[in-house]
Amino acid sequence: MIGNTQNDLLRLAAQTQMTYAQMQQQASAQAAMNNVSEHIEVPQVNFYPSQHPNHKKARRKDIKQAYKLLSPTKRSILSPKRAWGGKYRYNTNTMRCCVDGCDVEYLLRAAGNIYEQVFDDETGQSLWDIYFKNPVTGEIEAFIAREKVTSGRKLRATYCPEHLHLYHLLTKWEKEDEKEEEMSSGTLKSKLKKGVSTVAVPIATLKKKDNTPELLKKYEPFFMQLEKDSKAYNGINLLHYKNPETGINDGDYDCVRFEAISTRNG
Ligand SMILES: [Zn+2]
Repeated sequence: MIGNTQNDLLRLAAQTQMTYAQMQQQASAQAAMNNVSEHIEVPQVNFYPSQHPNHKKARRKDIKQAYKLLSPTKRSILSPKRAWGGKYRYNTNTMRCCVDGCDVEYLLRAAGNIYEQVFDDETGQSLWDIYFKNPVTGEIEAFIAREKVTSGRKLRATYCPEHLHLYHLLTKWEKEDEKEEEMSSGTLKSKLKKGVSTVAVPIATLKKKDNTPELLKKYEPFFMQLEKDSKAYNGINLLHYKNPETGINDGDYDCVRFEAISTRNG
């Protein structure tokens, strides 16, 4: 990630969809790993958050970039080792990062448990708690990377703290993206596709009984006249609002606007 001073991060957070807290965690994972880089080779994760002004588009770009950075390293197509070692370069040890080959076991011995020092900005849980503990037994087991990052076959490899933090952010961004997508285009068809069985209830069946208060009943002819006139004259506007309780246009929140009728309509 570019720039690690507080001001750099604050500025970057303001220009991107990543939060300041997320950047701080990423920076601290990076710093912790750099501290041991004298002893072992620690490659940097060069993630550059998108500065696209549209929040959603910026997130999509970030997701795409994260997938690229988290894809397990492949051997060169010309490498003879491919024949017997398989196409992935780091695929023999679940304590090695599948991207950079970082020896995680050695890293933890040399620098302490860095996974425990990187936290989720919302839940406060560490990467160690989230990814290195069996959710059922609570026993410690290495996080296993997959061929296509979030899907595909499991490799015999993991992610170093820096890559794992990016992986964690990726899963969060994808969840946020899905949630927004569902809210904006939550059609029955797209939900059925996802296997969610919801049945759309026709609005007509929800039509409630007339419970207009006595006090308002006498205004009903007035509103009916308005409804009629609003179609005939430009100056009368009947504004319908959805009832916030039911989400339906039931007339409880209607409003009238008169605009210089005398001059416009003669
Ligand atoms: Zn790594």
